[in-house]
Amino acid sequence: RDGLSKTRKQLNESVGFLGTDLKDVFTTRIETLEDLEYALIAADVGREATEEILEDVKASTKPNLQEALMEAMTLQLEPNARRAQFRKLGFTPDARRVNVEPAGKVIMVIGVNGVGKTTTIAKLGQYYSGRGKRVMFAAGDTFRAAAGAQLGVWGERLGIPVIQGPDGGDPAAVAHDGATVRRARGFDLLFVDTAGRLHNKHNLMEELKKVKRVIDRADPGEPAEVWLVLDAVTGQNGLQQAKKFHESIGLTGVIVTKLDGTSKGGIVVPIVRELGVPIKFIGVGESAEDLQPFDSREFVQALFD
Ligand code: GDP
Repeated sequence: RDGLSKTRKQLNESVGFLGTDLKDVFTTRIETLEDLEYALIAADVGREATEEILEDVKASTKPNLQEALMEAMTLQLEPNARRAQFRKLGFTPDARRVNVEPAGKVIMVIGVNGVGKTTTIAKLGQYYSGRGKRVMFAAGDTFRAAAGAQLGVWGERLGIPVIQGPDGGDPAAVAHDGATVRRARGFDLLFVDTAGRLHNKHNLMEELKKVKRVIDRADPGEPAEVWLVLDAVTGQNGLQQAKKFHESIGLTGVIVTKLDGTSKGGIVVPIVRELGVPIKFIGVGESAEDLQPFDSREFVQALFD
């Protein structure tokens, strides 16, 4: 139901002793820690985080391994400064649900082809319109054949208007039209789909920056948010791409998709640690409902339930 069953299965099978009394872990079953280390690395949690988790588990006052591990993992999903502070204090704060209320009215959604950008925009439309917002879309991915048509189909299904441009047309022009119409018609939120081709990277970054400038000029106020869609299945490669997008354009949020399709859901940990941008939502399936606001405690609970 939560869409994280593959990662959960992987962790529970590698660490098939989560109920172990913590003091037994260190006295009689030292191999347990090695298995745990292996399981965390295999789930793409990353070296640094794995080391910190093992340290925190060793120092934990929790009764059993599962609880100690859940606390340590939750702490890994805190922003870096807070995590460092709380690790010093030996304390895990109550996780705060991430704020998914957009600061601006326009959200540019970026990411390379195939990560689930267009589908995610549909899901976001469903999420916010279900909460009383008036939402519209702009089909700014004019490079991928049929991306506009795909968004059009979603829009029709969800009752969300879509601003279209011609295939191969200027994405900035579509974004400009979207931003102008949003402002004139008083819609609460505009999601702008963007191109995500991989070749010609420099031009892609320049083009995305141009789209953002055009939006910010057409719809002054809070600058457009930039949310990056990242496919969990691509693991470390995806994270490296994300860093490049962040350096070039400046991200204000990340959405991690396809967590249902991988046993490496631990990738959210290095995303939080290395990118320093809040994860807003996670995608856990192909339908419009399969999007959840990211909540670190719920996430960790789903991993170990
Ligand atoms: P885009 O090229 O980035 O716009 O990618 P699309 O939105 O066209 O999605 C590519 C494929 O990924 C489609 O088949 C989607 O149904 C699928 N997809 C998107 N998000 C998810 C997700 O969270 N889970 C799964 N299993 N599939 C997804």
